Amino acid sequence: MNLNLDASSAEAFNTQKVVVIGAGIVGVNCALALQILGYQVTLLDKQGIGEGCSKGNAGHFATEQVFPLAEPALLMQLPKMLLDPLGPVALSAKHFFKAIPWFLQFFNNMRADKRANNSTALQALNKQAIEHYKPLLQAANAQHLLVSKGSLLVFENTAYKDVLAMHSHYQGAGIAVELLDREQALALEPNLHDNIHHALFFTEVGHTGDPLAICTALAEYAKSLGMEFKQAAVDSIRQSESKVVINMEQDSLCFDHCVVATGAWSKNLLKDLGYHLPIEAERGYSFSIPLAETESPLLSRPVASAERKFIITPMEKILRLSGTVEYAGLHTKANNKRADMLLKNAECVLDKLPEQVLKNDEDNAERWMGCRPSLPDSLPVICQAPAHNKIFFALGHQHLGLTQGAVTGKLIGQLVQGQPTDIDMSPYCISRFN
Ligand SMILES: Cc1cc2nc3c(=O)[nH]c(=O)nc-3n(C[C@H](O)[C@H](O)[C@H](O)COP(=O)(O)OP(=O)(O)OC[C@H]3O[C@@H](n4cnc5c(N)ncnc54)[C@H](O)[C@@H]3O)c2cc1C
Repeated sequence: MNLNLDASSAEAFNTQKVVVIGAGIVGVNCALALQILGYQVTLLDKQGIGEGCSKGNAGHFATEQVFPLAEPALLMQLPKMLLDPLGPVALSAKHFFKAIPWFLQFFNNMRADKRANNSTALQALNKQAIEHYKPLLQAANAQHLLVSKGSLLVFENTAYKDVLAMHSHYQGAGIAVELLDREQALALEPNLHDNIHHALFFTEVGHTGDPLAICTALAEYAKSLGMEFKQAAVDSIRQSESKVVINMEQDSLCFDHCVVATGAWSKNLLKDLGYHLPIEAERGYSFSIPLAETESPLLSRPVASAERKFIITPMEKILRLSGTVEYAGLHTKANNKRADMLLKNAECVLDKLPEQVLKNDEDNAERWMGCRPSLPDSLPVICQAPAHNKIFFALGHQHLGLTQGAVTGKLIGQLVQGQPTDIDMSPYCISRFN
């Protein structure tokens, strides 16, 4: 893929001003794509660049994840998961009633026809997702932030026939995957625990040593091309005949186009514009353990546990354990016990843990919580607002915002330009909820 730095298209748009609201990995990619196309871009965020959900995630370019989260098997597993204090899913009693409408839609998306359509739409986004990052990271001098060594999904007590079925399921969806026995898995990752008997090796996925650094590197590159960043919280958005007005506490600003990329915080901004967005903050946690100077990285690639539903990623000077889902709304304080429990799970997946853990010195580990912007059909919203031709949405990327960031930027660039898009955009339109 080239960067589309075509001088004629850049010239055509360079008098038009675009605001991108939200500087997570999705907003940064949209801002960069538009700046490359020649728009004058302003990126706004109430915090800083990458300070929302894009900061402490697992850093996995998880293009193999093409199956929607709403799967019927969950119905049987969910009660056990909710009762298990170390379980991967938690629902706060206080949030229970608020979450009911979202869960009803989630269950509805378990229907076979919906799952098949949603999976096709995820495949379309994930197919070229990593390729879209490569030229951007290269232009930003940040190629080192994308490591292409694949990833493992490891199994402890899943029956072999179920592992085989999962392998075929991924192959059927066009995913490059190899089924490994214990010896083959150990040849790739010698530090796996005795519990692990098989693994799926996703050969074409990647990871990063620092997801926050990807946001900042791409934003710095966009700034070098002329993008402006402002720290400000947007209260509301209005479209007049010729402009979009962005209202903030102290100020209002006018633009030709606006892209809303406010992740899990998008509901009210969209409601004010007249759009219903059934978004939940699907809170996830990470536990990052610093490695000693002389210590080996312990893994070469991300290792996810099929049963424990968490992932271990070797990062720059840290080992990061990430996962878990907690439905407790946007504003409840983080429950760091959920980050700590990831360590207990890692003890069953890795043979050797970082020295700091062995010395019982985990206080230096960083516990982090991020709000995944999740919609009940596991698809993002990437579209022109149906009743506002100058406003665009790029939000709701659930577990895949890092993975789908660059492809979302490319598609938003095409939508804002009014050009044909690389893929059919109808599955991602907000009209599916309105
Ligand atoms: C534990 C965990 C592990 C994960 N692992 C992976 C992974 O390995 N791979 C992957 O692809 N994805 C992963 N994800 C998901 C990924 O992190 C998210 O999908 C992604 O960060 C969402 O990006 P975003 O830009 O949409 O949202 P955010 O990064 O949350 O950015 C939204 C921004 O909007 C700003 N904002 C909100 N409202 C306003 C307003 N009114 N005015 C101004 N600014 C506003 C916020 O301050 C924030 O900075 C993981 C998530 C978690 C929690």
